[in-house]
Amino acid sequence: MAHFEDLTPCGYMQQWKQSSLAVGWLERGHAYPQGTVDEKFFEALLRLCGKPWQPPVVFAGIHVCSLCQFGGRIAGTSSFGAGGAAGTANVFIPGETKVFIAPTMIVHYIDAHGYVPPREFQDAVFKCPEMRSMPYFKALKALGFPLTSYQAPP
Ligand SMILES: [Zn+2]
Repeated sequence: MAHFEDLTPCGYMQQWKQSSLAVGWLERGHAYPQGTVDEKFFEALLRLCGKPWQPPVVFAGIHVCSLCQFGGRIAGTSSFGAGGAAGTANVFIPGETKVFIAPTMIVHYIDAHGYVPPREFQDAVFKCPEMRSMPYFKALKALGFPLTSYQAPP
C-alpha cells in the first residue's frame, strides 16, 4: 500500500490530485499521530466506511495493514470489510476546500493502532452527508471533484 503524509495531495489517484488530500495512508516505518478519538467520530467514520461510494475506476491492489504484527499479512477474507486489517476500498469525504481520500482501513488504524486523524478530517466526517445521497454528490462537485455525468446530480 502506498504511503502519504496526512493532508498532502493524494497522488494515489492522479486524476484527483488537485482536488484531494490524503488522510490515513499509514505504513510501517513512518511515524503517525497517536492518541484517542471521540467514540462518536469513530462511529460516524465506521458508518461511512461501511458502504463507501467510490468512482467507477479500477483500483489496483489490496491495502494490507503493515502495522499489524500478523493480521494484515496472513489476511484471509475475515480480515476484509470495515474494521478489518485488509481492504480494497477508499472513502471520499468532502472537506472545507478539498476532498479527503482515505483507505477504509483507516477504521482499523484508529481502532487497533491508536491513529488520530487530523482535526479537519474529523470535522468533515461529522458533516459528511449520507453516502450516495444528492447532498453528498453536490458537496463533492462543489469542491471541483471531477464527477462524470452519470455520477453527477441532475
Ligand atoms: Zn493493523
